[in-house]
Amino acid sequence: MSRKFFVGGNWKCNGTTENVKKIVTVLNEADVPSDEVVEMVISPPFVFLSLVKGLLRSDFQIAAQNCWARKGGAFTGEISAEMLINLGVPWVIVGHSERRTLLKESNEFVADKVGYAISEGLKVIVCIGETLEQRESGATMDVLFAQIKAVADKVSKWSNVVLAYEPVWAIGTGKVATPAQAQQVHKELRDWFVKNVDVNVARTIRIIYGGSVTDTNCNELARLRDVDGFLVGGASLKPDFVKIINSAS
Ligand code: PEP
Repeated sequence: MSRKFFVGGNWKCNGTTENVKKIVTVLNEADVPSDEVVEMVISPPFVFLSLVKGLLRSDFQIAAQNCWARKGGAFTGEISAEMLINLGVPWVIVGHSERRTLLKESNEFVADKVGYAISEGLKVIVCIGETLEQRESGATMDVLFAQIKAVADKVSKWSNVVLAYEPVWAIGTGKVATPAQAQQVHKELRDWFVKNVDVNVARTIRIIYGGSVTDTNCNELARLRDVDGFLVGGASLKPDFVKIINSAS
């Protein structure tokens, strides 16, 4: 079963109108494989979604970085799944470790967001990951399984999910997981789907890696059997992102 390579660029809380236009120009002029080979998804902050959507070439898609867990209404400061659909945004990132940690988003709350977003027709990049302390105490897989189990309780349409394994200790730290560490976790996650969801879902779900991916480490990681692409933070704001996309071919 071949899974289409997926490269997401998470711009986090960065950008001005000027530099958003510059990054989009770099992407528009980039030589990248066809979107039949690699799915490319750019995730600007909410306020730049329409600008990026209007300027970016059509083989790149866009994603929001978060959405509310239920139908919109009296939730000041939140953005609903319906609004994203209305804007023509097909993807949303949910459960990023920065939100889990800094904004105390629980596994259940993240799962509610995933379930609601999918029910409204969005595709979701679900982030999971362990802290350094959890890894060092041998709890990595228990933590990850609890994070996916919460999502599995709310989701049946797995074709609209990309799972991003993002070890918290690797995000924005320059410390990337070794190929052996990444492959082992991705394989164990896939095995979890065989046992707990369905063998077809296990074979088809894309499990991508995130955490200090750069143009120098992407090729080795991209060759791993169970790594189906990347979620890229810092490097997605630089021209080097194009080389990361090209690791797909
Ligand atoms: C991220 O924010 O999802 C991420 C992986 O960040 P970075 O690539 O900067 O580690």
